[in-house]
Amino acid sequence: MSKNCLVILSGLPGAGKTTCVNQLQIKFSFKYNCFVIHYDDFLPPDFDNFSFKEIRNNILSATNKFLETLINKNDSSFQFISKTFIINRNSLPNLLIIDDNMYYRSMRYEFFKLSRQFQISFCQIFIDLELDVILERNKLRSSSEIISDEIIKNMYKKFEKPMENWEKYSLIFNTDIDYTLIANLIDRSLEDPNCKIELKTCEKQEQSMLHLIDLELRKIVNREIKKVCGNEKSIYIGKLQSWKIDCFQKIKNKDILIDNVDNLESFVENLFIRYF
Ligand code: ADP
Ligand code: MG
Repeated sequence: MSKNCLVILSGLPGAGKTTCVNQLQIKFSFKYNCFVIHYDDFLPPDFDNFSFKEIRNNILSATNKFLETLINKNDSSFQFISKTFIINRNSLPNLLIIDDNMYYRSMRYEFFKLSRQFQISFCQIFIDLELDVILERNKLRSSSEIISDEIIKNMYKKFEKPMENWEKYSLIFNTDIDYTLIANLIDRSLEDPNCKIELKTCEKQEQSMLHLIDLELRKIVNREIKKVCGNEKSIYIGKLQSWKIDCFQKIKNKDILIDNVDNLESFVENLFIRYF
């Protein structure tokens, strides 16, 4: 049984994540200590000069710092959060909830890795509504929070639903949110903090998968090299080689996640088409 759980609340802008997290805090204040990290709080006031990657990294480090403080209880920040949030005065489990779109699995995986690092539980809640409903709700938000329809449509296409082993504690809501189901999910994941044996198996599978990916990448590079001749050849070969190295590294680091395990050839081919 774990005393801490990292909860990912994922869904497109306007799906109702912040409303859901507020409800969770109200409904379950008797059951859990809830701490929330909102993506929106990390947006800088100056929208012209920011990178999504930087914001996401800031959220990750804040999560890391918070968990370190909460779990290791080894610095003065813990005195601060325990005073502020009445932890230590009760024996309730602590939930750190991340209210963020997280439409790519690789974004969520970074948080999963943190939960492993701190040996705590991990679960995910997805609000996956029809595009029309999301677009409508987005317009209900305050004017500074409204996102363009184009961005939302684009994210909608890219949304990666939970399917990997490490995503086993996940719930998807297509209509109304059932808070009893959420509590049930959290309780089940609290009873089953990240299991090491299972991860070892995952890592072994990952190694052989990486080997197969490497072969597919090489196949494409060799095929493309044969197609070019003349002055452009050496430049193109250079580009292909850096593409191959870059892709392999990103897949290894899980910045790109394999979304088509049954057909690696087409997965790698799509990476090639997207890049070139
Ligand atoms: P997100 O945090 O995912 O961007 P919000 O929680 O801010 O979404 O919700 C977007 C808008 O939709 C808000 O105006 C909110 O009041 C409304 N909303 C959220 N959940 C529901 C719901 N279950 N039914 C109707 N409207 C909702
Ligand atoms: Mg929100």
